[in-house]
Amino acid sequence: MSAIPFLGYLIDLLAVLLLALGLKGLSKVRSARSANGLAALAMGLAVAGLLLQLQPGALAWLAIVLGTLVGGGLGWLMARRVAMTEMPETVALFNGCGGMASLLVALAVALFDDGSADMVELVSVVISVFVGAITFSGSIVAMGKLQGWLGTPGWTQSQVRHAINIAIALAALVGALAVPGNPSGSALWLLVVASTLLGIGVTLPIGGADMPVVISLLNSYSGVAAAAAGFVVGSQLLIVAGAMVGAAGLILTQVMCTAMNRSLVSVLFGGALGGSAHVGGGGDEAGYSHIVSCSAEECAMALETAERVVFVPGYGLAVAQAQHALRELSKLLEAKGAEVSYAIHPVAGRMPGHMNVLLAEADVPYEQLVEMETINPEFPRTDVVIVLGANDVVNPDAKNDPSSPLFGMPVLEVDQARQVFVVKRSMGAGYAGIKNALFELPQTAMVFGDAKAVLQQLCAEVRSAA
Ligand code: NAP
Repeated sequence: MSAIPFLGYLIDLLAVLLLALGLKGLSKVRSARSANGLAALAMGLAVAGLLLQLQPGALAWLAIVLGTLVGGGLGWLMARRVAMTEMPETVALFNGCGGMASLLVALAVALFDDGSADMVELVSVVISVFVGAITFSGSIVAMGKLQGWLGTPGWTQSQVRHAINIAIALAALVGALAVPGNPSGSALWLLVVASTLLGIGVTLPIGGADMPVVISLLNSYSGVAAAAAGFVVGSQLLIVAGAMVGAAGLILTQVMCTAMNRSLVSVLFGGALGGSAHVGGGGDEAGYSHIVSCSAEECAMALETAERVVFVPGYGLAVAQAQHALRELSKLLEAKGAEVSYAIHPVAGRMPGHMNVLLAEADVPYEQLVEMETINPEFPRTDVVIVLGANDVVNPDAKNDPSSPLFGMPVLEVDQARQVFVVKRSMGAGYAGIKNALFELPQTAMVFGDAKAVLQQLCAEVRSAA
């Protein structure tokens, strides 16, 4: 092998190492930002390595450079514009693109096969087409549902959908078995169409509450499809990167299922089995009997004497974009000598790590972000807890009421604190659509209002008392 393609292989190896380091770094808040940069650099190096391995001047050069510029430019633009609350839809779209890329690579190899493809390549083509097409169509449906463009048709909630999906899966199996014998024949198209329909058929019935789990699973599928495409084109880089994404997506899916107290089976088949956590109703004013509400001024008075304060951020904090006002209040309390921390529930908000990202935006020090397992034993010695736009993740019924849809989900045990203030706009329910027993406890007071407006009032009160 001449020197330049060899250099390309070395760069590929470096890209794999950087990608692995990047994925590892994403597991810690402190290193997540630089880890993301490392992973992006790895992708850039992967493209450079590929260019070096090709004949200079080949038409493929132009296609790769143009594809990288257009794709990279579009990705950059989308990432800059997307609101944090729309991240799950964006991830779904990116997964879909990954699935489509693997599908197209495998299709190209199958359609232009000159009879030289061996059995490993042909089986990889089948896997890449099958998983790539499911990932593509499933991700597009997931994005459409999250955006509110697609609903859940009634028939998908009956047993009929299982019969339809099984029939489609059988058609895909027929196509898959026939492709190795005649890679560019009609069986290939049967496999493409059936797999695409299967992606739609499996994702369409799933309720919105479970969609982020499905997106994480589809992310894992996109890794599997990429790894299979790696076998198709003989790219070790793609095989390793795809396997890492596949494994990481699967681990995240498991973590989310555990944190939401859902099994993967009930997420995937829950629509028809009636097991969705998104039950709706039960959380309006009519459902509560003794609620105490107070003004921001009263809440500020409690804060002024508190030695230990814990903030619990939730989805509503992200909606209100109140993270900067929250940081401001923390600084004021710290200046008065209070010990301040933030309790982070693994599924607070609408995507994994949502609260970490939100608070990092406001420069909250990482060491003040405390995970659920660590902060729960601390609540009994906490003077004041302020729940900001969080609801399900602080619902004590998850521990105490076996009939609650949330029962078994680990929650932040804020009910153990001496005083709890819940900042939200109304008695409206959270994501699970159910009543929250915390709101009726004697140590709880509701502070009604938009999280940002209330936090700004609290800042003003605490400042004026100084
Ligand atoms: P939540 O249970 O969805 O509750 C959010 C609360 O925020 C609502 O009760 C709402 O009450 C309040 N709110 C909305 N806008 C507000 C504003 N501008 N100011 C103040 N409050 C506002 O949120 P959570 O406690 O963070 O729980 C997350 C839920 O999402 C869990 O059920 C979790 O399983 C689910 N989930 C999470 C993920 C993930 O990966 N993080 C993925 C999928 C699902 P008002 O309308 O009365 O203001």
